Amino acid sequence: MKKLGFGLMRLPLKEGFTGAHLASPDIDLELLKEIIDIFLTEGFSYFDTAFPYHQGCSETALRELAVRRRPRESFTVTDKLPCWEIASPDDFSPIFKLQLERCGVDYFDYYFLHSLDAVSCARMEKLGGFEFLQSLKREGKIKHIGFSFHDGAEVLDAILSRHPEVEYVQLQINYLDWENPLVQSRRCYEVCCRHGRPVIVMEPVKGGSLASLPAEAAGILRELNPELTPAGWALRFAASLPNVFMVLSGMNTLAQIKENVKTFDSLEPLSAKELEALKRAAAVVSRHIVIPCTSCHYCTDGCPAHICIPEYFALCNSIYNLSAYQELLERGFGMASECIGCGQCEARCPQHIPIIEHLKKVVDIFES
Ligand code: SF4
Ligand code: SF4
Repeated sequence: MKKLGFGLMRLPLKEGFTGAHLASPDIDLELLKEIIDIFLTEGFSYFDTAFPYHQGCSETALRELAVRRRPRESFTVTDKLPCWEIASPDDFSPIFKLQLERCGVDYFDYYFLHSLDAVSCARMEKLGGFEFLQSLKREGKIKHIGFSFHDGAEVLDAILSRHPEVEYVQLQINYLDWENPLVQSRRCYEVCCRHGRPVIVMEPVKGGSLASLPAEAAGILRELNPELTPAGWALRFAASLPNVFMVLSGMNTLAQIKENVKTFDSLEPLSAKELEALKRAAAVVSRHIVIPCTSCHYCTDGCPAHICIPEYFALCNSIYNLSAYQELLERGFGMASECIGCGQCEARCPQHIPIIEHLKKVVDIFES
């Protein structure tokens, strides 16, 4: 299988609002169909979706645009059990059935526990999440078991030691987070290597932030390879790692899919000199990122104040654009100052961002 996987978390939206947590009518299905067709025609086959992506509409978009239009065996589907939705063992089956229905399939090639860390893993162990996945595998409803992971290397080591049934681990890996003490990309990758588990890479372009670099960082990379785009560099970094089985990329324009096809069709591992250049570029980028949000939107569902947290953080990470902030308010999102500090968003953030504190910065910048 070719190493590029289609991540269906940030689909193209009709109003050009990539990433906003809006529902099905906002997904540009015509454009997505074109992108998916190029992806499959070029010989790629791995799709990655999940229960919360676009409030369930990522799963249904996959059903309409791939499952209903192509032979099932011509592509693979990864879906994930939303661990945070499980309050009792009785909840497993109905959610899994709903996911099969939404995707229009009768089995998943890969099925993962979504977004494990020490706390959610302990909950899943208590409620029987790992056993549930094994029973699905025995019944032929899933082919491979795995989990996506957001915690430290020691936690990962312990989980893999306790669960030999796990076949794959999905990790956040990109050149910016490689040595990041919070994300621990390198150390987690090395744990997987030691345990002999192949790695699927998520966020190789860090939510898109490595696709458009500060001028100084872009210059370092351009000097070495003027042909390769910043996103191409980031994808090559992830795909060069020998134990990486798949690299996910969210593609929401025709230009992106064409560029990714080119990158993965002529994939060459990075040289020592190129790795050194990425290290220097990473140091520059780190200085520019105020809030390390990847725009995954896990935090926004259920926010009582309807605050579009990642969009506000993106505004803080770029030039402070007051009219963009006002436009978001006009679209019906809550003001950052309306945050009631309930903390449910922080409990869901895989990057462990102190969201409430950062929203105060948003207030200072855009509301004072
Ligand atoms: S802490 Fe604030 S932003 Fe987070 S869910 Fe509660 S109200 Fe929303
Ligand atoms: S704040 Fe955290 S959960 Fe919310 S979009 Fe950013 S990275 Fe994702």
